[in-house]
Amino acid sequence: MENIVSFVLKVASRCNLNCSYCYMYNLGDKTYLSQPKFMSMETITVFAQKLHTYCQEKKARYVQIVFHGGEPMLWGKENYKQAIEIFTTIVKDVDFGFAMQTNGVSLTHDWYKLFKELNIRVGISMDGPKEHHDRYRVFHNGKGSYEKVVKAIELGKQYGMSNILSVVNLNISPSEFYQEVKNLGVPSFNLLLPDGHYDNLPDSFEKLKVNTLHHTPYADWLIEIFEIWKTDSDRPMIRFFRTLIELIMGEQTGDQMVGRLTNGVAVLETNGALEVSDSIRACYEGITRNDLNIHTHSIDDLYNDPLFEVFFHSHNMVNDTCLTCPIYDICGGGFLGNRYSNEEGFDNPTIYCHDMIKLVSHIQNDIVNSLPDEVCASLDASEAHYEEIVEELKEISLIKAHDEIKNKLKSFSLVC
Ligand code: SF4
Repeated sequence: MENIVSFVLKVASRCNLNCSYCYMYNLGDKTYLSQPKFMSMETITVFAQKLHTYCQEKKARYVQIVFHGGEPMLWGKENYKQAIEIFTTIVKDVDFGFAMQTNGVSLTHDWYKLFKELNIRVGISMDGPKEHHDRYRVFHNGKGSYEKVVKAIELGKQYGMSNILSVVNLNISPSEFYQEVKNLGVPSFNLLLPDGHYDNLPDSFEKLKVNTLHHTPYADWLIEIFEIWKTDSDRPMIRFFRTLIELIMGEQTGDQMVGRLTNGVAVLETNGALEVSDSIRACYEGITRNDLNIHTHSIDDLYNDPLFEVFFHSHNMVNDTCLTCPIYDICGGGFLGNRYSNEEGFDNPTIYCHDMIKLVSHIQNDIVNSLPDEVCASLDASEAHYEEIVEELKEISLIKAHDEIKNKLKSFSLVC
């Protein structure tokens, strides 16, 4: 059994922004309303004790702690000081990587100084140029947050600390988006595909067009960015592209979106509830809820949660189509939440299946065409063609998912 390596601590269950696409508050699930607003120091202490036991038992030497929310900065500076002290005192023989994902609107010099002192890496969510960012990432009074976020990013550069996380927005032209990021001068950023599934599709998808030939709006957008990026001699690191390139080159890597590794990520809610990654919440109300709580259970108990099992092994618990797909080792069937449908549960390819085939083929061909033949031969790398792969996937799959796996994937269906 592989380990949980990343714990996402929901230290605040409320937010000072009201982003329209937020999976916490505006998609599918309202159970946050019954949560305490903030995580208590008692919960942090109990979690640290259980984490110490977990790491000793699993012989884990590294753990990532991600402070998240809601908006994690609502938790206050003193809480961060105390929490880091508790972790580093109670959990022995473990190296920590502390990180925070924030909307950035409250970041000041003092906050950055504190994060530097506590060794907490800061990631800021940002959605491109002002006009677009302000359409989605708004305060509760409807006012956009762009100016404050840009100020926070600028400030962060002085501390060597700001990384940007953006959700792909097809309404922004790729060149405009890339230029915006370049203007901000950050060393790295990451791109996320929007949350959504077959029965709650992102804005740009029509139900009948999902995974139909040449309907690949996300691949087309990302390929345009890729083309600009690769010719930029002073390019920032784009994590999504880097991961895909590493996977194409045969490296064993990946994350919740791609690759074949296990998803060693768990969430601790403000009340101590121990759950699966919260972006799965966009599937339906309460899907991540279970009866596990750090005050009454061990971290190991999470392995018995049926949703956690599917999430943890999601790149190996896939449907028949993915098993026969030539790019399965790279795509990994996609992010679990993007595979959901009310009818089939998680027994589907991702809604971005065609986009992934086209994007991966494009990057793979780019790599193959830039390498000498003998290197390609040693890597067993050859050109991939979107149309051919799509045709191949139309054939009846000869490889079938094991019945037990299929039943587990389907068990989350809302249709009896
Ligand atoms: S590209 Fe589609 S069929 Fe292939 S692994 Fe990804 S989701 Fe599955």
